[in-house]
Amino acid sequence: MTSKEMLKATLSTRKPHQCEWCPEPIKVGGPAMSRAYIWEGEFHHGYLHSECWDALRASNASEDGFALQEQPRGTAMDGYGDPLPAHA
Ligand SMILES: [Zn+2]
Repeated sequence: MTSKEMLKATLSTRKPHQCEWCPEPIKVGGPAMSRAYIWEGEFHHGYLHSECWDALRASNASEDGFALQEQPRGTAMDGYGDPLPAHA
């Protein structure tokens, strides 16, 4: 395992952020997940839409990695580009 999640919290954003999962921005005041994690030995911190967080959790991307901002909003894809079930 190369990833270790350290912290996550739901928050209302005070500044706009870029979602890590999808190409859409997170608007000011919007609900978002904040997470801090170790990836391949380096510390990272980022924001996700809450539905993108759900998609991330439904996939194994938090352990296998994913292309930043290249996922469809709120949807998890498998390695072949097919959508995964929302909750297995
Ligand atoms: Zn998103």
